[in-house]
Amino acid sequence: FDMFVLAFVERIFRPTFRKDDFVLGKKLGEGAFGVVYKASHAKKPASKKEGDLVLKKATEYGAVEIWMNERVRRACANSCADFLYGFLESSGKKGAEYWLIWRFEGEATLSDLMQSKEFPYNVETMLLGEVQDLPKGLERENSIIQTVMRQLLFALDGLHSTGIVHRDIKPQNVIFSEGSRTFKIIDLGAAADLRVGINYIPKEFLLDPRYAAPEQYIMSTQTPSAPSAPVATALSPVLWQLNLPDRFDIYSAGLIFLQMAFPALRSDSGLIQFNRQLKRCDYDLVAWRKSIEPRASADLRRGFELLDLDGGIGWELLTSMVRYKARQRISAKGALAHPYFDREGILALSFMQ
Ligand code: ADP
Ligand code: MG
Repeated sequence: FDMFVLAFVERIFRPTFRKDDFVLGKKLGEGAFGVVYKASHAKKPASKKEGDLVLKKATEYGAVEIWMNERVRRACANSCADFLYGFLESSGKKGAEYWLIWRFEGEATLSDLMQSKEFPYNVETMLLGEVQDLPKGLERENSIIQTVMRQLLFALDGLHSTGIVHRDIKPQNVIFSEGSRTFKIIDLGAAADLRVGINYIPKEFLLDPRYAAPEQYIMSTQTPSAPSAPVATALSPVLWQLNLPDRFDIYSAGLIFLQMAFPALRSDSGLIQFNRQLKRCDYDLVAWRKSIEPRASADLRRGFELLDLDGGIGWELLTSMVRYKARQRISAKGALAHPYFDREGILALSFMQ
């Protein structure tokens, strides 16, 4: 099937909605380009309960976000939050206002979970649906973190295989889906679909500097300016190979790995300080380790100890994700095949019982 035929057929059969069909609840977030609310259907027949929803009222970038979500729904549905509908609500004095609706996946983002003193055991409880009666320790923490990384990389591999680069990977944009008990990616507002040239011109100002890779431009500056869609379709697989834009997300995912291993780097100030130190080491993580390990706090030393388990396989993966040069970073697929993931994660524990 042609993708566009499918999209067209889907548009005809999908129910259409308007503003009045939804009741807004608690505000969940507010950024420069939109406001996000918890919501529900206005007239919800008891027989057709859809559960809670999430509604984003977005400015002009909402059109791109709708495109990305519809593409994800067809190509790699499990990678991201379940997208239901997107429509243009008004073009009044405020200009275009796009409404996007998802299923409410759960209360907690990875950021919420990482801010808790219980992390990573709170994640283990959510993944398994029960509290494990096992001794706490580095091994167990490592296997919880390994499971989170596996799920995050799996979701990223789905996006990247579809030709989408997210560009805003951070714990705030990773939601725990209570239904599937997995982590999913949200917030495709800064994403780029290189295969069809959508959002081809990078919007650097959308990027979060705390998690952004050092390269300023997703595509090399020699790349000609945005070609029209058909040309982009023909060219972009080559451009993808040349520029490896997916490695931008890998760098951000590496920083999440780092934050999970080191509690001190979970705060904004801790992460900003780390970024400054890493820059001073020319983005060489091994040099960073050498510079801080001799005078490291017990807390930092524990992080290195965790990454050094099993012959340092975790540290090896981390250093292949957080590298200055995009082309030296491992891909999502490559990372999933890394020996760090050879050991069974915590989910194996629940199946053994
Ligand atoms: P923003 O552009 O404001 O960052 P996001 O799409 O990241 O918009 O959504 C903001 C917040 O709303 C998220 O950090 C998360 O807490 C919550 N949220 C978004 N989508 C969902 C969802 N599908 N299920 C549950 N919570 C969500
Ligand atoms: Mg967000």
